[in-house]
Amino acid sequence: MARQGGVPLADFEGLPVAYYPGLPVEVSRGCYWSRCAFCSRCVVYLKRRYFEGGGVLYRPVGTDEIVRRVRTLQERYGKTHFEFTCLDISPPEMKRLCRAIIDAGLRIGWCARVRLDDSFEPEMLDLMAEAGATSYHLSPETFCARTTKLHNKNYNMDRIRAIFEYWEANRDRLPPLLARLMIGFPGETFDDFKESYDYIMAHHFHVQAISFYSLLKNSDVYVHPEKYGITIRKVKQHQNLFANYEATWSPENQAELEKIYAFIDAHKGALRKKVLFVHPIEPWSADGQPAPGEAAAPEDDLRYRITQFLGAFSRFYVV
Ligand code: SF4
Repeated sequence: MARQGGVPLADFEGLPVAYYPGLPVEVSRGCYWSRCAFCSRCVVYLKRRYFEGGGVLYRPVGTDEIVRRVRTLQERYGKTHFEFTCLDISPPEMKRLCRAIIDAGLRIGWCARVRLDDSFEPEMLDLMAEAGATSYHLSPETFCARTTKLHNKNYNMDRIRAIFEYWEANRDRLPPLLARLMIGFPGETFDDFKESYDYIMAHHFHVQAISFYSLLKNSDVYVHPEKYGITIRKVKQHQNLFANYEATWSPENQAELEKIYAFIDAHKGALRKKVLFVHPIEPWSADGQPAPGEAAAPEDDLRYRITQFLGAFSRFYVV
């Protein structure tokens, strides 16, 4: 098992690789941004350095090594499709990787998640397509400038919209674009949500996944709930490391959430055509059944009903 930057090449020996449509190639660990208010992934490796002021843990594999790994897996298993797995690739890293794939003459299809930093020029979509991207996986989480500030992703909404508009104008020749959205972050108002909703409905890209915001252990909201107007009640309902707490929202937040959920409930038909996957909400498990030892979902919980309805009809997208 060769290591680069502390990230080993995965060993697939003994697995039924012939049945896999493609293989994952891990390209980095950690996140170079590590500041999104809702996210706990920057501490997946138990390094809460950001919150403790000690910096960010990020270990990239490096472009040359990624190319070597793809070649190794191609020769070993005859695969032509890969997923570059990581939390997020930076736009400059993505550019270097695309050029390296093209220069190396790798004839592969691939997908990867790229952060939407200001360095993401819309024309990079062309370069990614030339290098073999079979779809774009972008996570603006919202199309409302006010909400993106709350998320603290360090995203500029004009910039994000410029990328999406570029895809829209060139969608006939570019691979499909799939966006990920999050609904109901503390402080998001119904008007904010509606701005995002109107944007996605006015464009042709699909929404790969909608997540209803849920509190994640070790996220900034978890560490500083008072900043977000919420109170955390410790309710250990199951062994999920990141979601075994419940929060009480401020009455103002709660009122906005209820407006948002009521709107979604009334527009489920339109959303079903747009959304490929709806993340199940906590504390219920993926199949919608209560986890062992938990109370059943209350039938009047609107979020739960919406997730069940949209989830039952949403399509899994296989790249
Ligand atoms: S959401 Fe993505 S970019 Fe933000 S901290 Fe988490 S892994 Fe990093």
